[in-house]
Amino acid sequence: MNNSDPKAASSVLVTSPLMPPLEEFIPYLENIWKSKQLTNGGPYHQALEQALADYLGVEHICLFANGTLALVTALQALRITGEVITTPYSFVATSHSLLWNDIKPVFVDIDPVTCNLDPAKIEAAITPATSAIMPVHCYGIPCDVERIQHIADNYGLKVIYDAAHCFAVKQEGVSVLQHGDLSVLSFHATKVFNTFEGGAIICPDAKIKRRIDYLKNFGFADETTVVAPGINGKMNEFQAAFGMLQLKHIDAALAVRQTIYQNYRQALAHIHGISFLAPQETTAWNHAYCPMFIHEGLFPLSRDQLYTELKAHGIFVRRYFYPLISAFPMYRGYESSAEANLPVARKMAQSVLCLPIHPNLSAAEQNQIIAIIIRASSVNAA
Ligand SMILES: *Cc1c(COP(=O)(O)O)cnc(C)c1O
Repeated sequence: MNNSDPKAASSVLVTSPLMPPLEEFIPYLENIWKSKQLTNGGPYHQALEQALADYLGVEHICLFANGTLALVTALQALRITGEVITTPYSFVATSHSLLWNDIKPVFVDIDPVTCNLDPAKIEAAITPATSAIMPVHCYGIPCDVERIQHIADNYGLKVIYDAAHCFAVKQEGVSVLQHGDLSVLSFHATKVFNTFEGGAIICPDAKIKRRIDYLKNFGFADETTVVAPGINGKMNEFQAAFGMLQLKHIDAALAVRQTIYQNYRQALAHIHGISFLAPQETTAWNHAYCPMFIHEGLFPLSRDQLYTELKAHGIFVRRYFYPLISAFPMYRGYESSAEANLPVARKMAQSVLCLPIHPNLSAAEQNQIIAIIIRASSVNAA
């Protein structure tokens, strides 16, 4: 989810990157200048792989230049072909990674409680060509991982999670990134944890990590041996050094996100016609986004009217995920035939607004946003 609109300095954006004080980054840069190792698995790259595995509570991690290259490479690593079942309610990179591998995405509807792929609707979309399921833990709220794995096991399918929103999310103390065959993170500037751009694949064993490490470096297994038509997906030392510094600040940033989210929920709980998502109580969520749903007919303004009203006050909320991926021209006709129209995803996409949530949001800005929504809620419907 890339924030492309240029905004005036006084405006409030849906997100703003976590950036530690500049002076804290200088020593890292001095080390890079000294070593002159800028990329190709340098010391910061090695350090960040280890530090992230420890922090996230996973065994193996392969760092990437960005999340999209990690998704494309994850599909290559598992030799996925044919059709892959996925969600239309996501950032477009999820499906683009399939098209870049000449794989046909098959869109299945979502569950209105989580906004994630609805496990009850997956089986009807499986055909002899299906080789994998690619769900998204949308907004960082975990999918029904057990039911999805059960279906995958029954039909011999791989599961690759687009876990771009899922940094640090745990269920009953266990990282949600441990599920499926592979999980893919994004460290884009707009995400909870960023390395300017960046990404990673979480893998269950050293063997698949080795294959992914070859694939992200042109397929080189050693100086003179190329074992696969790999790509250049490597994370550089600048990104990795920034990641090491970010890790020192991430817990504080997650705590601020939680406070902001709880303030929104509390202040808006009594407003008729709007609702929020609630992850299960056993989930340690990262509050990556603050999706709010406007129920037409119950709230006096439509979703788009509230969007425009906030914008008029310099508050740039985003309609993640509208339009649905399946509405973009290159994806028309890819709904599973059992799933024509994707009614739940369409409804969620029509009603969602993501409110600003990030570590730089001030209390005054948040109060202003809340006040605008409360004022709008008491407008008499014409
Ligand atoms: C951000 C995002 C990506 C792409 O990650 P990049 O690091 O920007 O390439 C993929 N999927 C989802 C769901 C995302 O939000």
